[in-house]
Amino acid sequence: MDFEFDCWSCEATNTVYGEPLGFFSVHSYRLPYDWTCYWCDAINITPDDD
Ligand SMILES: [Zn+2]
Repeated sequence: MDFEFDCWSCEATNTVYGEPLGFFSVHSYRLPYDWTCYWCDAINITPDDD
């Protein structure tokens, strides 16, 4: 599943892929700890929704 996050630096929306953790746990996805903005190469830390 794809998640959308806004870059802290340039506020562009980036799409980050989350890998499903289990076949039946449709609400659990493993997102990368950080990701690089597609537009400005800034390192972003994935927000923790828990
Ligand atoms: Zn950016």
